[in-house]
Amino acid sequence: MAKKLIVSACLAGIPCRYDGKAQRNEAVAALVEAGLAVPVCPECLGGLPTPRVPAELVGGSGEDVLDGKARVIASDGETRLDVTDAFIKGANAALEAAREAGADEAILKANSPSCGFGTIYDGSFSGAKAAGSGVAAALLAANGLKVKSV
Ligand code: SF4
Repeated sequence: MAKKLIVSACLAGIPCRYDGKAQRNEAVAALVEAGLAVPVCPECLGGLPTPRVPAELVGGSGEDVLDGKARVIASDGETRLDVTDAFIKGANAALEAAREAGADEAILKANSPSCGFGTIYDGSFSGAKAAGSGVAAALLAANGLKVKSV
């Protein structure tokens, strides 16, 4: 039976966050456990390790990153690393997973530079947020998926 949803893997209880932890959401985990949703982690699919240095979008939103107008920068306060290519690769892999599953909806983790939808951290690494979506969320929405943020 075709799956109808993709979800952020960390919401399903998979410890794939930058800090090596999960962000389990019981309702999302129940969908996965019932076989109704497929968990994906765009940053892992992009080839980034877990744990990893946290990243933010600098110079714009996920749409801007996809258009080549903004970058994704990982920073631990001392070093800064451009991880834009990995984020774009992961977003495309998430879209491919959605298509394979026959998914037309996504439930994604709020505020993430990949999965955030509508609000993300603003690129200042200060905890401040701004309007915009993460790279994977932007790509999924641009390809017709109904994206919900939790
Ligand atoms: S990229 Fe998405 S699924 Fe992966 S850890 Fe971050 S919020 Fe969770």
